[in-house]
Amino acid sequence: MTLTQLSAFETAQKVRTGEVKAIEMVQAALNQIKNVDGVSGSLEPGNLSPEEEQKVHAFIQVTEDLALSQAEKVDQMVTNGEDPGLLAGVPLSVKDIFCVEGTNTTAASKIIANFVPPYTATTVKRLTEAGALVLGKVNLDEFTFGSSNESSAFQPSTNNPWHTDFVPGGSSGGSAASVAAQEVALSLGTDTGGSIRQPAAFCGVVGLKPSYGRVSRLGLIAFASSLDCPGPLARDVRDTALMLQVMAGNDPKDSTSSTKPVDNYLAALEKDVKGLRIGLSPDYEALYYPDMESGELHSEPIQKEVHDVVMQAAEWLAKAGAEIIENVPMSNTRYGIPTYFVISRVEAASNLHRFDGVKYGYRTPENVGDLIELYRRSRAEGFGLEPKLRILMGMYVSAAEHASAYYQKALKVRSLIRNDFDQAFDRGGDYRLDALLTPTTATTAFKRKSVYGNSVLMQYSDQMTVASNHAGVPALTLPGGLDKNGLPIGIQLIGNDFREELILRIGHAYEQLTADEAWRQVRPQVLQGEVKA
Ligand code: GLN
Repeated sequence: MTLTQLSAFETAQKVRTGEVKAIEMVQAALNQIKNVDGVSGSLEPGNLSPEEEQKVHAFIQVTEDLALSQAEKVDQMVTNGEDPGLLAGVPLSVKDIFCVEGTNTTAASKIIANFVPPYTATTVKRLTEAGALVLGKVNLDEFTFGSSNESSAFQPSTNNPWHTDFVPGGSSGGSAASVAAQEVALSLGTDTGGSIRQPAAFCGVVGLKPSYGRVSRLGLIAFASSLDCPGPLARDVRDTALMLQVMAGNDPKDSTSSTKPVDNYLAALEKDVKGLRIGLSPDYEALYYPDMESGELHSEPIQKEVHDVVMQAAEWLAKAGAEIIENVPMSNTRYGIPTYFVISRVEAASNLHRFDGVKYGYRTPENVGDLIELYRRSRAEGFGLEPKLRILMGMYVSAAEHASAYYQKALKVRSLIRNDFDQAFDRGGDYRLDALLTPTTATTAFKRKSVYGNSVLMQYSDQMTVASNHAGVPALTLPGGLDKNGLPIGIQLIGNDFREELILRIGHAYEQLTADEAWRQVRPQVLQGEVKA
């Protein structure tokens, strides 16, 4: 086994005991990045050779010096007999939406391409204090607005390591791809409507959206503040639990972060699933979208292979002693996307006001007559298409004359979605679920350029994930198989508030149960030809 194939858990063990040096981990990761990643995303991309077209392109910036200095510190601690932490020597990539002091933080947008933050996000700080090594900042859809990575102002955008003609998903596409391509063991992403889970599913890795408030948002450039959740992407559930363990917990500098004590996630993995109540819902078997002319809701069944994998997962878990509860009604899930469309755009428009060409970021080089002209030109030149659309929509649906028809209504539907979960998890109710088992996405990854530009189709790729953002509950995605093209399929476990330990436990059990399945032996295209783990 090569160093880049080690899990985060194994790496930390080896580095803490001195068997492997953190500096060797950095070198191995840099090597892997050199082999598979190709040119980094940039505002002025050149023409790509056919060979370059097939690279992963997860990174916007490789932070070699930072990783080396962090590794030196870890190795020094080991030499001194001190404990370097739970993530000692573990290569980490950071979605380029988190501030890292002294390191460019672009949000994949021209408007803050030159921004160097004077402070570090709490999540990144906690991870590096536990010994993780930041290998670089990875690509995303501009300001996290998207589901394919293609809206990044930094091109080439990321490809799917399983098949580079396909997208890695988004917005944490760089995160998911860098983990799948074994460039890093862990990545820090964000999930507002599905941005950790959808790309994790598309790239065959594990991803967790924690409960709202479980992980600090300080230093995360905001998209929709009432929905945004930082979270881990990893190659297995144990690494996901380990990373969450380090990141979770109250941050006095984030007033929405919870003071609830953090569970022992790693210990929870030791338990089996006997007697746990796991629900299946018919409301996760189809996509629902409005007909643009009539406004009526249409439904379309999800990809059959995805549905089958979820059913098989239920069988595995039943065999291991879980109780499968069928027909759990989650009837408001179908309104998740329209509701998200309104709420997330109102919050995005508000959060994007700060980028005005005055305080920091891009400023038009043109001679302007007054302040309004400076704002207007800087924003027109700095923002890409997607943020512009979202600002316009957000302003429209929250304007005084429209708010009751859109924003106020969306907030009401959001409560209905929350009620569905309350009923499903209610200890005294009809279902008393420990977790809901669903697909993560309705389809596997789409071909590059095939959906981008069709904002309706793109939006609906989050229908299975977005309800848990509205409700604030935690949700885990993990690989469950491959489709006929060899593209990964994700299954999702949604839990009650702050019950991350329970969904991680079920996910871990599922991994053990399916450890010998043939699909687990298949490796992403970009890794084929390498030594097998
Ligand atoms: N794909 C969704 C969107 O474009 C979700 C993005 C996210 O979770 N950040 O809004």
